[in-house]
Order: sequence, then structure tokens, then C-alpha cells
Amino acid sequence: LLRVDEVSKWYGDEKVLTDVSFDMDRGDVTVLIGPSGSGKSTMLRCVNRLTEAQEGDIYLDGECVTDPEMDVNRLRREVGMVFQDFNLFAHLTALENVALGPQRVLGLSKDEARARAREQLEQVGLADQLDSYPAELSGGQQQRVGIARALAMEPKLLLFDEPTSALDPELVGEVLTVMRDLVDEGMTMLVVTHEMSFARSVASNMLFLDKGQVVERGPPEQLFDAPEHDRTKAFLRRLT
Ligand code: ATP
Ligand code: MG
Repeated sequence: LLRVDEVSKWYGDEKVLTDVSFDMDRGDVTVLIGPSGSGKSTMLRCVNRLTEAQEGDIYLDGECVTDPEMDVNRLRREVGMVFQDFNLFAHLTALENVALGPQRVLGLSKDEARARAREQLEQVGLADQLDSYPAELSGGQQQRVGIARALAMEPKLLLFDEPTSALDPELVGEVLTVMRDLVDEGMTMLVVTHEMSFARSVASNMLFLDKGQVVERGPPEQLFDAPEHDRTKAFLRRLT
């Protein structure tokens, strides 16, 4: 479904990604880990073209995403993103936040968009908060609205950039539970997270990025239990 082929990126003189390559099949859950500044967010942002890679190519369903001719709006419909800080509209209710994309971007009628939003919010356990504004919701609830909003566009691929990092520890579980449900439903997900027990239990594949390079890759058992590289070992030791 996704092919990242030798992607390199610079910010000015600083090389932040070096020849990053990986593939994802439909239904795969790929977890990206690595120290702060290693390029994890930049990698995700290259996939939905929030930023541009200077070298290499990215293909979604065989289509070249990095082609300058690519319709970026269509790309962003097909690739949903969930952000660390939720990025909800403060002046819209949960229902309105989720209905906005289907109505404005997919062209559903207002009623259809609201029906779809209600369904998605029910799926993330927020059936009784449809008319709440973000400020009236906990961080965990806000992030679940963020996930419902991404799902309402029926994306082929979902990107998660540290979706639980801004949450109080007691709210992390409810968001991970929703993510786990998506995994069980077969959603294809590319996830940046520091939640290692979550990664271990859901990842089909993991990538350890350091200084913009993939230092180590493999199934979670291999990465956690038998890392080959000293940098991976040192990183995991600090986290666990
Ligand atoms: P964190 O764990 O802190 O979120 P990260 O692995 O997501 O880190 P990135 O945010 O991708 O790392 O940043 C990779 C490098 O690119 C860092 O050195 C960062 O300073 C730099 N960088 C990121 N965004 C920009 C930008 N818009 N302009 C200039 N440099 C940037
Ligand atoms: Mg980041």
C-alpha cells in the first residue's frame, strides 16, 4: 500500500532524513521510534506532503505521491493524520469537527456528514459528547475526536504522530484502546509513539530512526528482545 523509497530531506544545510526506505502492506501497523530530532515527524509529513522530500519517492497504492503533479488535496483525503496536540477547531462541537471534512471535502450533504460523524464518534466511545466543545472535553476525549475526524474521511492509511504524548498518564489508555480497535479492524497505520508495550503488541514492523537514518528494523520481538545495534539498545534502555 505504501512504499517509501530512498527518501532524503534537508532543512537548509541540515540533513534530517537519509535514504529512508520501507514498505507497508494493507493492514500493516508500522511503528517508528527514535530519539527527539531523529526525523520521525518529518518522515510522516513527507507521506502526506505536509513537507517535501528532496530525494527519493513515495508511492501510495502504486501512485507516486512525491510527483509534483500529484493532487495533494486528494492525497490528504486518502492519508489521514492524527496529531499530538489534537488540532481540533475550538469553536466547533465534536460533531461539527468530525462532520466538517466529509461535508466540505468529500461533498456530502450536511445531514449525511453529520450522520457519518455521529457514527465515527460512537465508534470511539463518544456517543454522549457529540455537542461538546473541545474545551469541555478531556485530552483523551479530544484525541478520540481527532481520530474520529481522521476516520470520517475513510482514509487508506492513517498517520499518528505521538498521539498520546500530550495526555495525562491516566488518559493514555483510552486512546490506545481506540487505536487497538482500529488495528483489529485492519486499518493500515503508520505510528510514531513512545508507548513501547503498545508497539510491541500491535506492530507488524518497527523502524528505529536515529539522526534521520533507519538504524534497525524488524518485528517488535526482534527489536525489543534482540536488537542488533548498540544505538537501538541504548535507546530502548532509556525508555524501558
Ligand atoms: P521529536 O521526537 O522531538 O518529535 P522527531 O523525530 O519527530 O522529534 P523531527 O521533528 O522530524 O524529529 O525533526 C528532525 C530534524 O529536523 C530536527 O533536527 C529538527 O530540528 C529539524 N526540523 C524539523 N522541522 C523543521 C522545520 N520546519 N524547519 C527547520 N528544521 C526543522
Ligand atoms: Mg516529532
